[in-house]
Amino acid sequence: MKSNCQLLIIGAGAAGIGAAHAAKRAGIDYLVVEASHRVGGRGLTEELAPGIPWDLGCHWLHSGGINPLAPVADELGIHYDKELPSRGFYMNNQRLPETRVAEYDKYCLDIWNNVKQSEANGEDIALSELIDLNSEWAPYYTYWESLMTSEDVDQFSALDLARYEDTDENWPVRDGYGTLLSRHAESIHVELNTAVKCIDWSGAGVSVETNRGTIHAEHVVITVSTSVLGSRDIEFKPALPLSTQEAIEALPLGCYNNFAMLYEEEWPFDPDTPDRIDYSNGDDINFAFKLRCSGWPYIYCAVAGRQARWLERQPAEESKNLMMTALTDIFGSDFKKKIVKFRSSAWGDDPLVKGAFSASKPGQANQRKVLGVPVGERLFFAGEAASEKAFCTAHGAWQSGADAVMKSIKM
Ligand SMILES: Cc1cc2nc3c(=O)[nH]c(=O)nc-3n(C[C@H](O)[C@H](O)[C@H](O)COP(=O)(O)OP(=O)(O)OC[C@H]3O[C@@H](n4cnc5c(N)ncnc54)[C@H](O)[C@@H]3O)c2cc1C
Repeated sequence: MKSNCQLLIIGAGAAGIGAAHAAKRAGIDYLVVEASHRVGGRGLTEELAPGIPWDLGCHWLHSGGINPLAPVADELGIHYDKELPSRGFYMNNQRLPETRVAEYDKYCLDIWNNVKQSEANGEDIALSELIDLNSEWAPYYTYWESLMTSEDVDQFSALDLARYEDTDENWPVRDGYGTLLSRHAESIHVELNTAVKCIDWSGAGVSVETNRGTIHAEHVVITVSTSVLGSRDIEFKPALPLSTQEAIEALPLGCYNNFAMLYEEEWPFDPDTPDRIDYSNGDDINFAFKLRCSGWPYIYCAVAGRQARWLERQPAEESKNLMMTALTDIFGSDFKKKIVKFRSSAWGDDPLVKGAFSASKPGQANQRKVLGVPVGERLFFAGEAASEKAFCTAHGAWQSGADAVMKSIKM
């Protein structure tokens, strides 16, 4: 491993990969160091069964039409789906008629109008303050919104949500988003198993101490998660400016985990069963199930916020039982026999990530901008938390990495 470079990039997740490609395009002498044995960070695809990929982390190309990773996927021959799945809403064991689904959609629209009005009023308050929590739709809605930021609605800023650039195109990556990121990283150089311990920016340039030796660089792009930074796993000499420290504290990762349930038969449901089911028992059991994930024979769902945190600490059987309660309600008690494998992610437990994605605390939506302000003209923070319009996403992370390199060129 070389000990000198113009630009050192810390972390080989989406942001580090985006930064490395930008540096390569600009002809900069760069080096990427990654603590893990693999690239991709929160993008990770495994096989649920031979030839059946499933994503433990990112899966959807959000805002597909403007997502810079969609053309990358095209170039690499990675497949993704653009069609909208058919959808049904079940309350307990009843599929709701279209008129009732329209009532739910109206409830969501009213909240969105509240969010935009709150933004226009210059407020930065928790989303929960803009919701009728007594409505029969609130349990499902609050579950669904927790999936957006990996936190519960009382824990994140509605203003932050209002700023997210959403084209309403969410394209699942059939071959796996993790596969897309790792294939994209094949054309950059990454030093794996190289963990940064200390970043000394006291002198000219930066000295970065790793478990494999010290690297000297003019500029450093730091892409590790805000929860890794907040845990002080990396020491900064001198300490970071207070404004950067406050931005890190204001943008902690929430919890969000993916689940996959493999079924043996081709399609063990009635032919007219929708591809996506929104389920609510009107109380504490709420799930969005995708019954056929990109054509693969498994059910996908996710949980976030406090529920995800709690479930992650329980045996996997607890999550499975909860999901089976809902699926049994919809498909009958024999259904559970059709599930032959159950898998889940556990991102809160991953020491190199420590959560899912960054939720801006109420009152703190402007901190994403602050995190992106260069420190001492040589430290550049990137990663999903530093994206102002595509935070919480892989493409936002990728773009923030590329933008950080452009900032470093100007210094
Ligand atoms: C369950 C789940 C589902 C998601 N679904 C979607 C989705 O469908 N679509 C979407 O766009 N986004 C989704 N996301 C979010 C998306 O995955 C992330 O926003 C994005 O991947 C973050 O990339 P990053 O580069 O900012 O950070 P990371 O991916 O966390 O990369 C940081 C890297 O730094 C490394 N590192 C940590 N400490 C050190 C150290 N000391 N030294 C060196 N290296 C270190 C880590 O190992 C890691 O590889 C999901 C996330 C989760 C958890």
